[in-house]
Parts: sequence; C-alpha cells; structure tokens
Amino acid sequence: MLIVKNLTKTYSLEKQKYCANKDINFSVADGKMVWIYGNSGSGKTTLLNMISGLDVADQGSVQWNETDILSLSSNQRADFRLKNMGLVFQFFDMIKTQSIFSNVSIPLKLLNTNKSEINKKVYSSLELFGIEKLCNKKPNSLSGGERQRAAIARAIITKPKILIADEITASLDTEMSKKVYKILKEYIVKNNCIGIFVSHDPLIREFADDIYVMKNGSLIKENEIVD
Ligand code: ADP
Ligand code: MG
Repeated sequence: MLIVKNLTKTYSLEKQKYCANKDINFSVADGKMVWIYGNSGSGKTTLLNMISGLDVADQGSVQWNETDILSLSSNQRADFRLKNMGLVFQFFDMIKTQSIFSNVSIPLKLLNTNKSEINKKVYSSLELFGIEKLCNKKPNSLSGGERQRAAIARAIITKPKILIADEITASLDTEMSKKVYKILKEYIVKNNCIGIFVSHDPLIREFADDIYVMKNGSLIKENEIVD
C-alpha cells in the first residue's frame, strides 16, 4: 500500500511563490492502477517527482509499507528507486551511444545481475512490447514510439513494486497505447504492483481502478467532483 499524506510543494521563482501541490492525500493498494489527469501545469509531474523522491516536498509524507520515502536521504532514495520503483517519463532518457539492449539492461547491471539473467530478462521484456528485433540498434535509429516502448520495457525489467508513468503513450498510436496499458495493467495485477499513471489519454480509463483529477495543485477523486 502506498499512502500519500498532506503532500505540499511550493516553488519559488523570482520572489514569487507558486504552490504546485496543495495538501495532497490519496492511497493506492497493491495490485491497483491509478490514473491522474488534469490540465497542463496543474501539478501532475510535480506529484510524481515527490512520490518517486526525485524532488523533495515541503510537507507531508509518502509511506510505502514500512518505508517513509521522504524521510530517506537522497542516496537512500536513489537506492530505493532502483530496487522498488519503475519510472517512465515523457522524455525517455536513453544513452544515445549505447544499444537498446544495453540501455534496457542498465538497472539490472546496477543490481549486479549476472549476464545470462540479464540476457534472458532484457529479451523477454523487449519481446513483451514487440521490439526484441531492435535490441542491437541505437536509440536514435528507432521511431519515437519504439523508443518509448523500450523505456517502458526498461522500467519493468527489475519487477518493480511501484510503477510511475508520466504521459507514456504520447508518442504511440491508439492501438499501441491500448496494448501498452493492457500489458502494464496485467503486470500490476500479476506482481501486486502499485501503478500511478499520469495521462491525457482517455484510453486508460478502462484499465484504471481509481481516477483522480489534478486541479490547480489539488488532487480530487473524479467521482467526488462537484461543479
Ligand atoms: P503538469 O505536469 O500537470 O503539467 P507540473 O507539475 O509540471 O504540471 O507543473 C506545475 C507547476 O509548477 C507549473 O506552473 C510549473 O511551471 C511549476 N513548476 C514545475 N517544476 C518547477 C520547478 N522546478 N521550478 C519552478 N516551477 C516549477
Ligand atoms: Mg507534466
């Protein structure tokens, strides 16, 4: 179970303060997938950065089982992410000079996985997204959609218990978006993972267990909105 309590984040820009996340409270049970949508600039990416510990909140807590993620040091958070989280962001980071195989294997190498395990896992993760034939290519020779799928394959290669995804289907067509959501939903259910997905794509609705809307930094459950 992941429990987010009273999470608040304010950015200061040239003496002006801007509250990007206002007292956010929600929780996600194991095996469940949450979809968050909302206008651009409403604070969705900020929230994902807080939960993953990539940035630090001003107030509040993010509790996962016995771990209070925000109370960890920055090194401990990096270690926690490597061991427990899969992250896919809109601007997928791939090392340009290395092959897709090598890029996708990075988390496993960091976890000292042996070579034959790496081969097996990378191949089956790429296969899941239909891009195993591209494993020797460099990221720049792939289409945006293929690169995006490689980034998703990399995010689940370590079998993370928390999957955080920010606009991951922006460069995929409708059919492929649906396929990707279906695969990730199955992954979440099968591995008792917690999925937090930010997306503009309403295709995700049929896969989501809970739906939230971000409005000016506040997170509201979709079925509790009063206009
Ligand atoms: P969304 O992902 O919903 O489009 P963001 O979380 O990226 O929104 O941004 C929410 C608000 O916080 C925006 O007004 C944005 O300009 C501001 N913001 C985000 N990151 C920073 C930052 N590092 N420094 C200052 N302001 C930021
Ligand atoms: Mg964003």
